[in-house]
Amino acid sequence: MYEGAIQDLIDELGRLPGIGPKSAQRLAFHLLQAETVDVQRLASALVKVKELVRFCSVCFNVAEAEQCRICRDPRRSNELLCVVEEPKDVVAIERTGEFRGRYHVLGGAINPLEGVGPDSLRVRELMARLASGETKELILATDPNTEGEATATYLALMVKPMGLTVTRLASGLPVGGDLEYADEITLGRAFEGRRAV
Ligand SMILES: [Zn+2]
Repeated sequence: MYEGAIQDLIDELGRLPGIGPKSAQRLAFHLLQAETVDVQRLASALVKVKELVRFCSVCFNVAEAEQCRICRDPRRSNELLCVVEEPKDVVAIERTGEFRGRYHVLGGAINPLEGVGPDSLRVRELMARLASGETKELILATDPNTEGEATATYLALMVKPMGLTVTRLASGLPVGGDLEYADEITLGRAFEGRRAV
């Protein structure tokens, strides 16, 4: 191992998701050799993201104000509400240009093996939003994998007594995959072809 600051940096980088010890070392030495101004820009972006970015008080997407850009947009329909796992899924769906409704970001998916139940997600907040009665169609756009399917099934059961239309994205999405990795056309078609559950 190394001494002092460089080892501290390797340790910190190694704590990030998807970064193994070798990658952490490679990144640390890359930064050591980079221009000071470039490293300062990275450092300032890290500090700023914690200072400025928070979660939208309505949909829990990332926001730089009390409400996110999508919740503040008066031209979007309140009748369509799309439930996703993470903020990155909002970005993926926005890229398709197919959706003009609102979102609700759960903050993950039900995963009993990792101790993630409905209480760890923004399910209570979703129910509170639906109670206002404005939503006509609830679109369950959780990932097409085991956890995403379990979450969609759970939510469909929970909202059944409310009598609104509940839809799930059409097949064509790669099974076992992650919504954010679907290309725009596939995701756009899955949106158009969504079916009632
Ligand atoms: Zn929002």
